[in-house]
Amino acid sequence: MEMNDLRDLYIDELRDLYSAEKQLLRALPKMAKNASDDTLRQAFETHTEETKGHVERLEQIFDKLGKKPGGKTCKAMQGLVEEGKEKMEEDAEPELLDAGLISAAQRVEHYEIAGYGTVRTYAKLLGDENAARLLQKTLDEEGQTDKKLTKLAESSINVQAMQEQEQ
Ligand code: FE
Ligand code: FE
Repeated sequence: MEMNDLRDLYIDELRDLYSAEKQLLRALPKMAKNASDDTLRQAFETHTEETKGHVERLEQIFDKLGKKPGGKTCKAMQGLVEEGKEKMEEDAEPELLDAGLISAAQRVEHYEIAGYGTVRTYAKLLGDENAARLLQKTLDEEGQTDKKLTKLAESSINVQAMQEQEQ
């Protein structure tokens, strides 16, 4: 693709995020299914629903830009999803598996937070306030999900994983 100005970079990075979200839409239900802790499973289910919204917001933005969202593969997300899969294939105790799932999911959220923060800033610089607002909404949901996972890790799941070790 042509890369001449900030708008080209903006579109390229939006496509990268679109591919990332589509990959997540397939991965998150599997993570939910593999989670033993009810709250963790619910967190993955809730974020699956939110992720559908993230895809839709990106589609709205592409629509306005008169561009197609597809055609790019986010290789970073492929790697992150692959690592999550490796964790799920481990023959580990449920508490340990949950801790591993949180770890994998937080890597994903941080990647998305970096990506959305960047494109939100590009949208503002390019004067697209509507897109900036939509991207900020998604950015906020990624941030909330990350915080929720941190709380879960600190409150119970990692503690149980520790106890597993002491037994
Ligand atoms: Fe997302
Ligand atoms: Fe996310």
